[in-house]
Amino acid sequence: MNPLLNIENLSINYKTKKKEFNIIKDINIKIDEKMKYGIVGESGSGKSLTSLAIMNLLPDVLDINEGSIELNTNTKKDLTTLSKSEMRNVRGSEISMIFQEPMTALDPLYTIQYQLLEVLKIHNNYSKEEMYQMGVDMLERVGISRPKQIMKEYPHQLSGGMRQRVMIAMALICQPKLLIADEPTTALDVTIQAQILDLMNELSDLHNTAILMITHDLGVILETCERVAVMYAGQIVEESTVEKIFEEAAHPYTKGLLSSIRSLGNKSEELYSIPGNVPTPDHYQDLGCRFATRCPYAMERCFEQEPPLYQIQDDHSSKCWLHEEEEEAHDRYTTSVR
Ligand code: SF4
Ligand code: MG
Repeated sequence: MNPLLNIENLSINYKTKKKEFNIIKDINIKIDEKMKYGIVGESGSGKSLTSLAIMNLLPDVLDINEGSIELNTNTKKDLTTLSKSEMRNVRGSEISMIFQEPMTALDPLYTIQYQLLEVLKIHNNYSKEEMYQMGVDMLERVGISRPKQIMKEYPHQLSGGMRQRVMIAMALICQPKLLIADEPTTALDVTIQAQILDLMNELSDLHNTAILMITHDLGVILETCERVAVMYAGQIVEESTVEKIFEEAAHPYTKGLLSSIRSLGNKSEELYSIPGNVPTPDHYQDLGCRFATRCPYAMERCFEQEPPLYQIQDDHSSKCWLHEEEEEAHDRYTTSVR
């Protein structure tokens, strides 16, 4: 499988005249064509900022100070080096994005038809009739039963679920190679959530679109993704296949996230949540391991030295000092059997 998006050593700093500190550090993510990849973490983990960096939409005070984001479509390009107008060509046609609250992404002043076809106009040269038909077809494909009627309506006339369907239609109408979905179902009720996730899965298979799913909800990752990166305080702390993360989670933070979703399904148990909050960037600067203030296994060195990302299996890595002992034991074992 060809890699479609390759994020290498991405670091982002907050930078003003008065101060500068790191927010996102050493992010490495590889997404193959047609792959469904998840980034999971609590709010404040930097997952949305990572997606904004891919789209070249970071606010001015945030500065990519290291790393590259390579997109491999018709030609290979490093998105961090593109100009605003070059990036506009990429957005919508090669990568598109859907957000948690479609109301903020849809313009209340324009009809669905106007907004849906606007995307097509920017990137293609179809006639008006062709575009109208494509719009109607796309709305049908996202499960809207009266597409011609909906074309004439304004965003406020639609329910939350319908608006999210329209957003998906807008995101997919130009057949992008990558769809970034940032908490696409968080604002919806549970039954609609499941429908929208199914729809995204189905359409991405149909259009050969890869998905980068960004969510605080490990349950959503389980339903949609093949691989997952767990983010905490601006870093990836664990990365592997979804199966391994669920069955053999290695990092204390991932284990905490899993306990909270497992207790959710178990009515007899009290709802578990990891105590405390993600520290803010100006606080995690001086911590060795950024999870040390909340980790039940924290040792003295965790507060002082940053742990490396250990490759604990071929396709499974975890950033925690606890793996050092395992690794030493493994080295001892392999030397003794040689
Ligand atoms: Fe916990 Fe230390 Fe591992 Fe960090 S390095 S997750 S504080 S045990
Ligand atoms: Mg977010």
